[in-house]
Amino acid sequence: MSVVSSVPPSTQVVVIGAGVIGSAVALELARRGHDVVVVDRLPSAGYGSTSSSSAVVRFSYSTTAGVAMSYEGLHYWLDWANHIGNIEGPLAEFRPAPMLMLKTPGGHHEKVLPHLDKIGVQYEDLSAAQSVERFPNLNLGVFGPPARLTELDAPFWGEPSAMHDGAIVMSESGYINDPQLAAANLAAASVDAGTRFLYRHEVTEILRNENQVTGVIVRDSNGSNHTIAAPVVVNVGGPHSRQLCEMAGVLGAMNRSSRPMRREVWIVPGPVGADFEKVGFALGDVDTGIYFRPESGNNILIGSVEPDCDELEWVDDPDEFDEVLDAGEFELNAMRLARRVNDAQVPGTKRGLVALYDASPDWTPIYDRTDLDGFYVAMGTSGNQFKNAPIAGHAMAELIENVEAGVNHDADPVKVTGRYTGQEIDMGTFTRNRTVAEGTSVNVLG
Ligand SMILES: Cc1cc2nc3c(=O)[nH]c(=O)nc-3n(C[C@H](O)[C@H](O)[C@H](O)COP(=O)(O)OP(=O)(O)OC[C@H]3O[C@@H](n4cnc5c(N)ncnc54)[C@H](O)[C@@H]3O)c2cc1C
Repeated sequence: MSVVSSVPPSTQVVVIGAGVIGSAVALELARRGHDVVVVDRLPSAGYGSTSSSSAVVRFSYSTTAGVAMSYEGLHYWLDWANHIGNIEGPLAEFRPAPMLMLKTPGGHHEKVLPHLDKIGVQYEDLSAAQSVERFPNLNLGVFGPPARLTELDAPFWGEPSAMHDGAIVMSESGYINDPQLAAANLAAASVDAGTRFLYRHEVTEILRNENQVTGVIVRDSNGSNHTIAAPVVVNVGGPHSRQLCEMAGVLGAMNRSSRPMRREVWIVPGPVGADFEKVGFALGDVDTGIYFRPESGNNILIGSVEPDCDELEWVDDPDEFDEVLDAGEFELNAMRLARRVNDAQVPGTKRGLVALYDASPDWTPIYDRTDLDGFYVAMGTSGNQFKNAPIAGHAMAELIENVEAGVNHDADPVKVTGRYTGQEIDMGTFTRNRTVAEGTSVNVLG
């Protein structure tokens, strides 16, 4: 079995989307013996939003299940060659980079630490002096709240109002060097397990018989339509997942769903005279409004953590958004980085990318069944689920098998045990029926 050009008339499971999560779901289901067809409108695996991922692997989430998922996820990346098995070609690589959380009174770390303790994630609690000794480029100033360049007289651009008490350091963190390759690895492993991938085919209709999904209609690149009958369909459409829920007629019944959000990622050279890949670190920093990590070639990759002063760019149609990097946003965020990283450079030439998040209101994914029997979703991944793709695949396979066997997941949520850490992950955290609980995240840090 492999990539196929003719459309199979039926299968047990259709997975819509060959991104890193869709490919992981397909792999887990195929390894359990299910007949799986993955449909993607693009030419290959990982060509959707996955290809733009910053691919940071960290554990600093504001829910226990979020931390449990990400810590379990780490172990898949560390064991990647074994997990993927014997495929041809290169493998994605995990690059270690310590992840910091600055100790701000009332800061994100206060939400996260109890969960790290509960799950057993290792971390060090450094004083201010220890922090700057270990990370010489770290500026511990308190500058926030973040401001824009139109507010140059805001306190943010002046002298720090105080100093942070130090940093929490999670040394097991890092990033994946090539997110698209990671999806391709999962897809290749899935092909090995029997999955058929149908590229350049777009799902245009979700079929149902009363309250049971019965398959999909796909359009090929010549414009011809084909039916694939299937009792289980999994929506892993990334920024298109909302459209697919609408197509299936389930969107109105979902308490939580997601919307595409335009996002930029910026790349700047590392600090003058320092090898940031060696002495650098990653940080999610609400005080300056950015996250960043070392990037190969002694660069720094910067993203936003949605400070209040920046407008969120919601997108109605994921096929229509401005793909040109904004020079003003590049300069703004390079200057924000220069608040936190001593000797950071603010280059005159913009560099980076533009992509879409599939953002949920509480920045937490929806891994769930829906009110249409047999129609499942792995969506709302909110710019923070790349790292969790392999465990999300495992968790979705468990959930689907349980629900198809008659388990009432809505009433009694499925619990999944991590293969590596043995941690129990309560899939109820990711239900479409949740309300936004007090204390959950308000930005991409999740
Ligand atoms: C800029 C950016 C930075 C990020 N940084 C991080 C990070 O540092 N760490 C982290 O953990 N996560 C991060 N993420 C999030 C992570 O990358 C995503 O959660 C993950 O890649 C989503 O994978 P996916 O498979 O769900 O979606 P996608 O990769 O978007 O795949 C969806 C696929 O569905 C296909 N599709 C959609 N509709 C149809 C249809 N009708 N018919 C057929 N095919 C269809 C698309 O073509 C696409 O290939 C980031 C995301 C972005 C955009």
